[in-house]
Order: sequence, then structure tokens, then C-alpha cells
Amino acid sequence: MSSEAPIVVMKFGGSSLAGGERIEAVSELIARALERGVRPVVAASAMGDTTDDLTDLARGLSRLPRKRDFDLLLSTGEVVSCALLSITLNERGIAAQAVTGPGAGIVTDDRHGRARIQHIDPEALHLLLEDGVTPVVAGFQGASADGVVTTLGRGASDTTAIALAVALGADHCEIYTDVDGIFSADPRVVPRARKLDYISYEETLEMASLGARVMHPRSVELAERHKLRVTVRSSFNDRPGTELVSREAVEIETGTRVRAVVGDADVARITVEGVPDAPGLAQSLFQPLAEAGVNVDIIVQNLSHEGATDISFTVEQGELDSALEIVREVAEEVGAPGVTWSDELAKISIVGIGMRSGPGVAARMFGTLAEKGINIISITTSEILVTCLIEESRLQEASRTLHTAFELDD
Ligand code: ASP
Ligand code: MG
Repeated sequence: MSSEAPIVVMKFGGSSLAGGERIEAVSELIARALERGVRPVVAASAMGDTTDDLTDLARGLSRLPRKRDFDLLLSTGEVVSCALLSITLNERGIAAQAVTGPGAGIVTDDRHGRARIQHIDPEALHLLLEDGVTPVVAGFQGASADGVVTTLGRGASDTTAIALAVALGADHCEIYTDVDGIFSADPRVVPRARKLDYISYEETLEMASLGARVMHPRSVELAERHKLRVTVRSSFNDRPGTELVSREAVEIETGTRVRAVVGDADVARITVEGVPDAPGLAQSLFQPLAEAGVNVDIIVQNLSHEGATDISFTVEQGELDSALEIVREVAEEVGAPGVTWSDELAKISIVGIGMRSGPGVAARMFGTLAEKGINIISITTSEILVTCLIEESRLQEASRTLHTAFELDD
């Protein structure tokens, strides 16, 4: 194949590779890409639930496995799938080679479990491509400068794929998954959700950060920064998927203000009551949480009343216990009389680039929820997003109602 042929990175998620038949099907997609005259570089996730299974195995043996060992363990999932895929490609006469993350020149920092890629030395992959060999790279992993294997965070094979595409100067990155693309809502919650033909990087990033099962957030940031063409599509059919495009393209193409409704049931709220209203108090609360690595989300501080105020914030439910431990200590130190919490909350958000120019979107959201008698506990907004905190038991209803109200139903 000509060395001028465009490079396309093809990333396959775990469900696309779950078992021999799926690996055969994926090898067929790669064969077809070669027939189209492009040079594929493949990035593979671990097969099926491998990463969860390995995690359970380790946790069954140790409450707190050493991070370095744990990373090495998890990294094997992707090594298995890329090796099997390369074996399958070679079996059908396609020259391919499995390459680990470190073997592909992916250098990260040394934060095990959530390492960030520092740079990629694409030399090894370029040599394979020059020889007409299709590289099949293990996603989700790299090595620190001293050669120790790291992993990039759950779901981060997407980030491997995008980073490889950038480093290799690829034309396009295709993210193959088990759904037809990015949807206007989670189809399991909102049956009338529809597949979006295109969506901006920013909208995708907001959705990913809100916990929608789209792409790994860092991969979207990276793609946007490099204006990389990305398609999210299914490996189970030939439908065209969702294209990530610039915000300008979305603004030109759509009059629809709201593009998606995203729910997140994994929310807990902590309220510190009667915090003395003095400079530095918010810091004395959030600094130790940050140091403990607790991911604090929506923060609400009320106007003070007689020299004291309430501060509320949300965390993921899994982090509630460790957050409470820290907060109770701080509350005692600063003389705040009460700490309350709830883990039966959810976030419901609407996302859309067009919101910036269209007033009244937030009001319409509040009105729609009010009509259903759904109480809003707190509200946050950004340029292209409105999020309401509500009771978890109302999440499904809220999602469906908003999806209809904003004319997103299929
Ligand atoms: N196998 C890893 C995970 O399950 C990485 C990925 O799939 O992107 O999180
Ligand atoms: Mg994934």
C-alpha cells in the first residue's frame, strides 16, 4: 500500500471484541478498510468485562492492591485482545502486529490508575506502516519514563486511539462500539431517544463529563484541540454513526437548541450547616477533599444569615463515606454545628450549543419539571448546559419529559 494512503485509527471497545466471533467480525471491518485503500492503525480495549473481572479478582485477594501491580494486572486485558486480533488478521492473510501501549511509544506520567499521556514516540508504528503491517495497539496503557506500566483510567482506550491519531497525523479516528452512535438520551432510559448524525466536540465533552456513555472525556478534549475528525459508530452494523464536528458546523446545521438530555443517578449531597461566614472557610472545607482525591461537583453556598451559612456540594455515591469523614472533621474544627447528607439524588441535564444564543431554555426546563411536580433541589449552569439536582426516584420521568418538551423524541 502506498505510504501516501491516509491513516485511519480504528478503535474497538470491549463489547466489540467479546469472544472469537466478535474478533472475526472486527477483523472483517479492518480488512474492508484496507480494501478501501486506507492504512488502519487499530486500538483495542479488553474483551467484554475483562477489566471488571480482573478488578474483582484482585480485590478478592487484597483490599488495597499495590497500584503498580494493579496497573500491570489490568493492562493484560488489552494485551490479550490486541494479540488475539492480530493473530486473527494474520490468519486471514493480513500482515498485522500486536503492540503494547509502551511498545507503541506511549509515555505517561506515573499516576497509576489515572496516568496521563505525556508524549508518544510514533517511530515503531511508522516502521510497521512503512512495511505494510497493520499495528494493533493495546489501548488504556502506557509506561512512565522509567518503563513501569501504567493505565490511563477506566474507559480510556478512547484516549489511546485519539492520541495515536494525533501523533500519527491520521485523517480520521473511528470509535467502534455496541450502539449506533451518540444519542439524544440514554436509550435504555428514554425509549424515544434518537441517534444524532453529528454533534460538536463541546457537547460531547459535556455529555461525557456528565457520565453519559459516549467517549472518555479526555479523548474528546484531545480531539477538539487537534480538530481531529472522529466518528462514533457500531461494530455490529454498517450504519453511519455520529460525526464530531466544530461548534460552528452545529450552529449552522441546527435550529434545535437542546441536543441531549443526560441523567446521572450516581449523586450524593453533603450539606454543612451553620458554617461561620468568614474568608477562607470554603477553602478549609474543599482543600482536604481535593487532597483526598474526592471529586466535588455541584457546590452551593447560601447567603449568610446571622453570620453563618450552609454549604452544600455533591460527590459520587461511592465517595460519600470518605467525603463525610473529612467533612465532619472540618465541621468540628470550624465550629459548624451540623452535617447532613443524602444519597438518593440524581442530576438531570440538558446540553446544547444553541443555548448560548437562545434565552428561555433554562426557564422551559424548570417549567417542565414543575408541571410534573418534580422538585429542583439546586441548579447549575454553564454556557451550553443546565443541570438540576432532583430526587433520584424521579430521574426516569424527568428524562423522558424533558426529552419530549425539547422536541427530541424520535
Ligand atoms: N478496558 C478498560 C476499561 O474497561 C479501558 C477501556 O475499555 O477503554 O475501562
Ligand atoms: Mg469504553
